[in-house]
Amino acid sequence: MKQTLLVKLAPTPEQHAKLLRTLETFNAACNAIAAVAFAEQRASKFDLQKLVYYDIREQFGLSSQMAIRAISKVSEAYKRDKAIQPRFRPHSAMVYDPRICSFPAPDRVSLLTLDGREVMPFRFGRYAEGMLQRARGQCDLLYRASRNTFFLAITVDAPESALDDVSEFLGVDLGIVNIATTSDGELVSGGHIKNVRARYSRFRAKLQKQGTKSARRLLKKRSGRKKRFVRDTNHCVSKRLVARAKDTARGIAIEDLNGIRERATVRGKRQRRALHSWAFAQLRSFLSYKAALAGVRLVAVDPRDTSRTCSACGHCDQASRKTQSRFVCTSCGVVAHADVNAAVNIGRRAAVIPPNAAPLAG
Ligand SMILES: [Zn+2]
Repeated sequence: MKQTLLVKLAPTPEQHAKLLRTLETFNAACNAIAAVAFAEQRASKFDLQKLVYYDIREQFGLSSQMAIRAISKVSEAYKRDKAIQPRFRPHSAMVYDPRICSFPAPDRVSLLTLDGREVMPFRFGRYAEGMLQRARGQCDLLYRASRNTFFLAITVDAPESALDDVSEFLGVDLGIVNIATTSDGELVSGGHIKNVRARYSRFRAKLQKQGTKSARRLLKKRSGRKKRFVRDTNHCVSKRLVARAKDTARGIAIEDLNGIRERATVRGKRQRRALHSWAFAQLRSFLSYKAALAGVRLVAVDPRDTSRTCSACGHCDQASRKTQSRFVCTSCGVVAHADVNAAVNIGRRAAVIPPNAAPLAG
């Protein structure tokens, strides 16, 4: 399984200047190659190499491998849409392969610049532990002008563990009010995220009305902050769920995504919109890869009636779900938190599915 790890580079001011010049030159070269590709209507790497390789190296001072990477970047972009000439921003990502990038120490990277190789340290967060040893040497150099900072997106090989043989499942109900509720009764609240989202929507509406350049810039900055916050939360939630399942020798059961959408039509327009969002897709994908890495079996079950079936007696009735959070069985009278009740049903449903019958797609 391939994963991408984002680390922040800590170059000296001189190295920073060298990286920036390399990145800008690389993208200028890409634009020059793109002009030729478009004029000649050539998208293949080999054709382009024949046409531009020597000129590009001479004009921009790129190393042989950098020129190859630039040609291949243009070729990929132009192949996507041959009707237009691809354009590259001055700080668009630069691809580094093992010939121009290596890791001489666990926390150091060596990158080829126009002024030769530069070795610099990088910082990585708590998610990166252990992953860096599996770096393949394939990286993207990224530059955020707003923070004047370089990042490296490192491709790592993440070996999947053999899946644990389990007969029981931790049921997880994914929602808006509670991001995740488990069949053990653990609630992971999404209250804070919801507030952040609402605040951001109001803020955006206001700024869009203004429509000025500074308003747009502010909007972009704020949008990045919100994304990072949601990402952090999704990392924490998925990590906790996987650890919980692993520790208790269980698999994890969640609802089939299409089913969640179906059920959301009952929950109202606002929730439906939220369920379609990237934040949900991200949580699912984090859960999926973390489970695979830990060897925890993850299955998606048919979500029909999970929220209106009583987990105590099995009676199914829409009227049992009194409110967003309250479930009172119209048959046996049991009172439960609605999301916990749903999570228990989800967990049970997975336990009756034969192994591998419903592996999670994507
Ligand atoms: Zn009941």
